[in-house]
Amino acid sequence: MARKLYTARLARKECISEPAQCFHFEFVIDELEHFPYSPGQFVSAVAEDPHGKQQTRAYSIASAAGGNGFDVCVNRVEGGFFSNHLADLPDLPIGGTIQIHGPHGYFTLREPVTDSILIATGTGIAPMRAFAQWLFPADGPDRSNGKDIWLVYGTRYESDIYYRQEFEALAARHPNFHYLATLSRAPETWPGLRGYVQEYVAKIVAERAARLGQPLPLTPPDVSIPAAQLSFDIHAYICGLNNMVSAVRECLTAFGWHKKQIVFERYD
Ligand SMILES: Cc1cc2nc3c(=O)[nH]c(=O)nc-3n(C[C@H](O)[C@H](O)[C@H](O)COP(=O)(O)OP(=O)(O)OC[C@H]3O[C@@H](n4cnc5c(N)ncnc54)[C@H](O)[C@@H]3O)c2cc1C
Repeated sequence: MARKLYTARLARKECISEPAQCFHFEFVIDELEHFPYSPGQFVSAVAEDPHGKQQTRAYSIASAAGGNGFDVCVNRVEGGFFSNHLADLPDLPIGGTIQIHGPHGYFTLREPVTDSILIATGTGIAPMRAFAQWLFPADGPDRSNGKDIWLVYGTRYESDIYYRQEFEALAARHPNFHYLATLSRAPETWPGLRGYVQEYVAKIVAERAARLGQPLPLTPPDVSIPAAQLSFDIHAYICGLNNMVSAVRECLTAFGWHKKQIVFERYD
């Protein structure tokens, strides 16, 4: 069946990190009143390259649904077609359009909401922003059910901590939202966390288990229970490049986490 293509108009664009060449985009689909999607899903963007070949790339939606718009967060990939097509003003000015289809994907919050560790590097922050907006809406009831939500974000430099002010403000408003930004190449003057995301994920898991009196590694679930019927009191949501996703999955698996507790999206 042919996929329904929508025309998405660029309403706003902001360079959120000049050194990383990362851009925040806000699109509107004028032909729709509502563009429904679940936080964590992505759209497929379609455009013709200079050789007349149709190119399609996935971009995670960086906002919670509401109205007929959606945000994305994209960084330029050197030599890449689509990321540069989006980032270059002559190609895509304000009011310019792209074609998209979607929403797609299963990188979505498992419900009911449990304690959750959101782990991202780079533009893997996009679906985490959508989760955070959905869990803690600015203009509606809190959907976090009082559960602890940790956002562990890793990048090299302070200039690449995308949406930092938003997440810091959210953490200041919600005591159950914990924001940890860690730098792998921090200068000596950096007062914050250093190192890789998996180190902080391990710390969160170990401290939580100690607080709850749970053994680590966890006792595996009874194999006679069908996987669909298993329920867990914590999930991890991981998004970014494959190396990081694999490292975090290995770390959680070593703690005895079940694969159904670990939800991930790989960009490469
Ligand atoms: C489900 C999903 C969601 C995604 N969401 C986002 C998002 O929210 N924001 C975002 O910026 N990207 C996202 N991506 C990656 C995106 O789809 C493109 O791969 C990326 O923008 C590069 O496309 P391009 O056409 O510019 O490069 P291409 O012309 O496809 O590739 C050029 C070169 O760069 C390499 N490359 C491709 N992707 C990457 C990458 N991400 N990092 C480093 N090198 C790469 C390729 O191997 C190739 O060598 C997502 C990917 C998936 C699968």
